[in-house]
Amino acid sequence: MNALLRTWGPGLGLALAACVVLPLVLPPYWIYLAVAAVVSGVLMQSYGVIVGRAGVMSLCQMSFAAIGAWVVLRLNLADAPGGLLLWLLLGGLAAVPVGVAIGLPALRIRGVNLAVVTLGFAVSTDIVLNANQFPGTTELKTVVRPDLFASDAAYFRLAVIVFVLIAIGLALLNQTRIGRSWLELRHSERAAAAHGISVARSKLTAFAISAFIAGIGGGLMAGQLGLVVSGNFAMMQSLALFAVAVLIGPHNPEGAVMGGVFGAVMATVLEKLRLPQDLGGILFGALAIFALRSGVSQTDFTRARKRERDARRLLEPGARKTRAPLDGDQAAGLAAGDPQGRASTGAPVSTGAPVSTELGGLDVRGLTVRFGEVVALDGVDLTVPAGGVTGLIGPNGAGKSTLISAVTGFLARYDGTVELAGRSIDRLTPSARARRGLRRTFQTTAIAPELTQGEYLAIVAGRRLREEEAEDVLAFFGCPPADVPVSILDAGTRRLLDVAAAIAARPLVALLDEPGAGQSAAESLRLGHRLAQVPGRFGVSILLVEHDMDLVRAACGHVTVLDFGHVIASGPTLDVLDAPAVRAAYLGTVLEETS
Ligand code: ADP
Ligand code: MG
Repeated sequence: MNALLRTWGPGLGLALAACVVLPLVLPPYWIYLAVAAVVSGVLMQSYGVIVGRAGVMSLCQMSFAAIGAWVVLRLNLADAPGGLLLWLLLGGLAAVPVGVAIGLPALRIRGVNLAVVTLGFAVSTDIVLNANQFPGTTELKTVVRPDLFASDAAYFRLAVIVFVLIAIGLALLNQTRIGRSWLELRHSERAAAAHGISVARSKLTAFAISAFIAGIGGGLMAGQLGLVVSGNFAMMQSLALFAVAVLIGPHNPEGAVMGGVFGAVMATVLEKLRLPQDLGGILFGALAIFALRSGVSQTDFTRARKRERDARRLLEPGARKTRAPLDGDQAAGLAAGDPQGRASTGAPVSTGAPVSTELGGLDVRGLTVRFGEVVALDGVDLTVPAGGVTGLIGPNGAGKSTLISAVTGFLARYDGTVELAGRSIDRLTPSARARRGLRRTFQTTAIAPELTQGEYLAIVAGRRLREEEAEDVLAFFGCPPADVPVSILDAGTRRLLDVAAAIAARPLVALLDEPGAGQSAAESLRLGHRLAQVPGRFGVSILLVEHDMDLVRAACGHVTVLDFGHVIASGPTLDVLDAPAVRAAYLGTVLEETS
């Protein structure tokens, strides 16, 4: 409750103060502008969902708004029951199916191509609107406001209430899996899929919700102006607001307010200065290019700075440090652990979710992958037994990462079969495989820097972890506390976080692609000992792709050696690493260097 007040108190207080004070002190024209600012603030909130949060380039939000306005005006013309408040809602709902329809092509395309599709829709809406008038225009029948909100001052309050309700709704939504998934979607669709997020559903929901909010914004605008014209929803408006959105970051409520004020006041300021209106669009466009290049909006930047400042306090001496030295409990666990990866007995089971009893391993049979002429994998057999840590080693280009990608569903096609816990998963998408109990890490880590470690754990795990559970798994892998933002972690610690998250998700099998990269020799060895404990402690089996032989020895009970897509050896770690054939083919030099 206290935390809720701390986060929401100032914002709600400001909204309340604005509702009470502004209508009293502002002259009528400025009240009119204030209403316009809040209405564009609501439109900004719709950009906040689709552009700010989901990172989708949508240039047609004003077309959704036009639908909302059209519905409100049509119902107003018909004197439909319920009044403006109900009509607003219906206008928002009417925009949803259109939003989903526009979102459908977005499932296959992204980035600039998607921008073109949405721009196309905005252009066709322009044409339709120019050829037709909004309902009530010929009859000159303006929107009837509810008695309570009849004056401009009162309508300002209504607009603020709508804005606040949407802001609260979005904040709640951001706590859900779908809301969190948008952040990851913006950063990496590949990573999102690897974490069990259905990219299609996530994007369509973002389109639907942003269209809903834009529809309400359009209806509010109709209520503000009484009647609207096509120019209110012109394509150029969509573009200008998009630029403002990219620049400011309207997924943060303060950004939506700022964007709304800019949007409403800019035109007046330019008019007063006798400058052409297009100048505003050009200015925002130029600034937006900078924001797009840096990839960070103004409000995200400010928030990140504050978060980092707070987090550095957590990292000061006295607080737990990055790469914390082992505490007594963990040191004892490590000493008792069997370095050959058969440590599954006796290791303390962590607090948190019960260890999965439904253990299941991974069975790969005859896996063959071709990239054109290159045969990256050729009839590979590999087993990751339940409760074990299996190593997969081999020189660069041997096909290790390709094997992980095939198993987790990231390759369009492969020959052979993959079974997880005895069931075939060959026909499943990456996100479906992830939900069946697979997690992978990528050779290049891609963690959205605007997340805290705790938020990242929640995304990867697909559920909110209890605080002790999150801190426990982070500490186990030597990461700082959960509240520390990813942006201040060094590359090595991000890799550890990625591993910690994959394990915290409690999949049946975690496939880790070179987690030791970027770690010092000592850290790497420590990671190896910890990975050896994972099956017993977390109930997760591991396939470990690694170059560092000390790490492999510390972690793996068994290893398989790949060379040019063929398995050249497989068996207990020490036997395989000592086999003359393996040493000759690949390991000789490496072993001499590291042992
Ligand atoms: P490793 O992870 O063992 O270093 P990879 O699995 O990344 O090796 O690569 C195996 C082989 O497949 C290499 O010859 C590589 O060039 C090729 N390869 C990997 N991914 C692709 C791709 N997307 N397109 C074409 N060739 C690829
Ligand atoms: Mg690789």
